[in-house]
Amino acid sequence: MFFLPRGLRRRWAARRIEIDDAAWQDLRTSLPLLASLTAQESLRLRELTPQFLGEKAIDPVGGCVLGERERLLIGALACLPILNLSLDYYDSWYSIVVYPGGFVARHEYVDEAGAVHATDAELVGEAWSQGPVIISWEDVEAAYQLDGFNVLIHELAHKLDMLAEGANGMPPLHAGMSRQAWSSAFMRAYEDLCEKVEGGVETALDPYATESPGEFFAVVSEAFFEIPQLLYGEYPEVYEQMKLFYRQDPLQRLRLAAQS
Ligand SMILES: [Zn+2]
Repeated sequence: MFFLPRGLRRRWAARRIEIDDAAWQDLRTSLPLLASLTAQESLRLRELTPQFLGEKAIDPVGGCVLGERERLLIGALACLPILNLSLDYYDSWYSIVVYPGGFVARHEYVDEAGAVHATDAELVGEAWSQGPVIISWEDVEAAYQLDGFNVLIHELAHKLDMLAEGANGMPPLHAGMSRQAWSSAFMRAYEDLCEKVEGGVETALDPYATESPGEFFAVVSEAFFEIPQLLYGEYPEVYEQMKLFYRQDPLQRLRLAAQS
């Protein structure tokens, strides 16, 4: 019998991808999301990114062309959420499909009478439980602005969420985390946001979060990394739970970076 333990396979795969130091420094300083990382976090991301790029396929489609710089951006962004978790959290999928811009996805469903229907939807990102992450490059590039929108983090949050019970806003919590504390923080915030959106009140979070608890978790994940101060200001209990789940504190990171 032949087998290759995961750790070994990972090191072997990662060895094939070399990241140029100048390209890494360029990305680190030009991407605001990475600029506030501590030296230790940056080093860890620098280690994880080639491993990720060695393990996953990044497939441009529909005329999209991706060079080394673009692939590096995708790799680093993808590794940010699991910086203090592990690449194992992405083991259930293999590739990222990249369209140049928004794409039309056809979804089929069967109604109660057994008839099959198809709907077309214009999307910028999509993640299925058994399948690739699909994203629009145009929207990945928007990661250069810290505005709370980050399609890659959004779709990867769905993937993390799907690791337990499907994409319902309850990812696999770590030992020591309280399911009840998570549920009550998220439920209160979700209901508050739904009420505000229904009442036409302008919200700090993208109103798309009110589509479902699963979308709420994905949108809150974007906010956690991009605009942690707004998320904390609006829903501190949710921020605290996210901090425990992602094992990162982007707000503290920003404060420290501002002082230095
Ligand atoms: Zn979504």
